[in-house]
Amino acid sequence: MSVSDKTAVVTGAGSRRGIGRATAHTLAAAGWNIAILDIDEASAKEAATEVAEQHGVQALGVACDVTDERSVGQAVDAITGSLPPAGAVINNAGITSPVPFLEVTGEEWDRIFAVNVRGSYNITRRLAPGMAERGFGRVVFLSSVSAERGGGVFGGVAYSAAKAAQLGFARALAREVGQYGITVNSVAPGLIDTDITAGKLDPERKAQIIAGVPSGRAGTVADVADLITYLCREESGYITGATYDVNGGSHIH
Ligand code: NAD
Repeated sequence: MSVSDKTAVVTGAGSRRGIGRATAHTLAAAGWNIAILDIDEASAKEAATEVAEQHGVQALGVACDVTDERSVGQAVDAITGSLPPAGAVINNAGITSPVPFLEVTGEEWDRIFAVNVRGSYNITRRLAPGMAERGFGRVVFLSSVSAERGGGVFGGVAYSAAKAAQLGFARALAREVGQYGITVNSVAPGLIDTDITAGKLDPERKAQIIAGVPSGRAGTVADVADLITYLCREESGYITGATYDVNGGSHIH
């Protein structure tokens, strides 16, 4: 058994400076074939071309809104026809929101949960049965330090709650599917330099956050991508139900 006859499905890997794109690269460098599912079709396709060219693996970029079960079904059908079977799913597509709780609306709350939680459900629910049948799987959730320490970075209560929901999701799923050779883990990054905050994080606040990081800097996408790739190795099969911090020491517990 080797990862070169399997596909890692990475959601939200279109974003150029994002964690998903970097993860697609590190997984491909480790031999995985790559499926990129992103709501932004052009960036998904461009990322797949880049990954295939740089690493000589098979890669496909597909338009997919992870919040929509039908869209996820169509994307999974597309990759199933063209790539080796899914061996890993990285629940990376995510959105954040800084809206304070005393101002948040039900719509905003649902929007954050739709991508981070329901989106992870839609794709994982679709791919897990095949992994169970084949007796091998790696599922990784992109949670956040916000889930562990109760916000305090950029995201508000909705984001913190959604990221904490992912932790419970991952732990319970790990318990159920361990018997099929599937591991389920979460990574909990601190502030990582990407476009997720899209100009909404003012430099003063950013400096303040970094002042609380023992490593003295924001994290890089490579810091997170390497950890995810490690968890997806065949040799990591005894690591499951775990949450891995990658936060420069900003939250030590
Ligand atoms: P990013 O904004 O750079 O990338 C997110 C990607 O998700 C984009 O390509 C976007 O098009 C895609 N996406 C958004 N909604 C989608 C949908 N409905 N369906 C499909 N794709 C969709 O973000 P990032 O910083 O790389 O974050 C990646 C993950 O890591 C997120 O889950 C985020 O919550 C988590 N995270 C990020 C940080 C950080 O500081 N950057 C910290 C902790 C956790």
